[in-house]
Amino acid sequence: MLPQGREHMRSVLSENGITVEDLIEAPWLEDVRNRGRLRLLESVMHRDGVDAATVVDLSTDLGRMTESLSFLHAMLVVCASFDERLLARWIEGEASRADQLFGMDTDNFDKIATSYLSGLKEEQSSGTREIEYWVPMSDFIELCPRISGNYWRLANRPLREGWVCMNASSGEDSRQRTSRLLKERVREYLDKSCRERMERMSDEFAALFSEPVERITGLLSERVSAELPMSAAVREDWPPCFESAVSELNQGVNVNHVGRVFLASFSRSLGHSQEQTCAFFSGAPDYNAETTSYQVSHVYEREYTPHGCASLKTSARCPVNIGDDRLCDQEWMTHPLKYLRAKQRRRFQAPTEAGPTQESEAKGSVSGNSS
Ligand code: SF4
Repeated sequence: MLPQGREHMRSVLSENGITVEDLIEAPWLEDVRNRGRLRLLESVMHRDGVDAATVVDLSTDLGRMTESLSFLHAMLVVCASFDERLLARWIEGEASRADQLFGMDTDNFDKIATSYLSGLKEEQSSGTREIEYWVPMSDFIELCPRISGNYWRLANRPLREGWVCMNASSGEDSRQRTSRLLKERVREYLDKSCRERMERMSDEFAALFSEPVERITGLLSERVSAELPMSAAVREDWPPCFESAVSELNQGVNVNHVGRVFLASFSRSLGHSQEQTCAFFSGAPDYNAETTSYQVSHVYEREYTPHGCASLKTSARCPVNIGDDRLCDQEWMTHPLKYLRAKQRRRFQAPTEAGPTQESEAKGSVSGNSS
């Protein structure tokens, strides 16, 4: 997550001849994907901070490559999800990891801190003889409002000629206190990098990550369902197959078995509650509240994955013909969840349409855009 990491990642990819396809499916990069999944999982599941320890052996070239590329893999999955909650959680997880690691890094701390701050001074504390760090007041003033606690108010900090003393406090030494300040810059940097990447990301590129995206957003939905109502997808994002199943049932038209199972499982993927999903069936010609509730809970408990496009077409549940919907005509459109993500991406990118083109982050061009 260091600004210098962008260049490093680029060289790791080119020196090892790795393309984005390799990152997604090459068998020899399975450890990278596993580590990326783990980092992502930690960010989503651990609200109170992540474990900075890694099981990867960083003393070897392979270990260092795995750790670097796992970060890139996790970042690409987050960006391809176009899910603001996932983005926020991942950034929080990685920024917390940075906070912990920076605070422990006695050898490289100066270099790390000056990558994020406009300067850094160190002095020996007169009382304890411990190192005390001083940061420029301009950096402190910009970052401190985002941190709660009396320590972070300028009036409570020793000041000298435009420098603010980050003395030890609350069980943390001066380096750890300064790292807490750096965490805010890491957060800012990751947010900016991800948003730039998301603006450049094409449908085709995002679709390459559909499998890990669905896995992690599914977990996130379960994790946060108690915290906030999940209706990330607005109705305009719905694919025609889901929209038609909902409206047909609403108009009392009989929808076949595949259509009904698809409706319930897709509604679950959207994060709707069981009650919301049951309500879709209330207009069915054979509606029975008890049976519907039983069948819907079965879909939720077994965590059914929605049918793909091929299966829906075979079962006459795909309502579009060539030319009806530009997204459905795409070669990569193999699953209604991909349709949903593509629509969410368009909504995300809508305010910045004047920016870079959607196609600029083309398949295979990851090495040019690494962070
Ligand atoms: S092509 Fe796929 S996403 Fe589009 S309507 Fe048909 S089944 Fe749904």
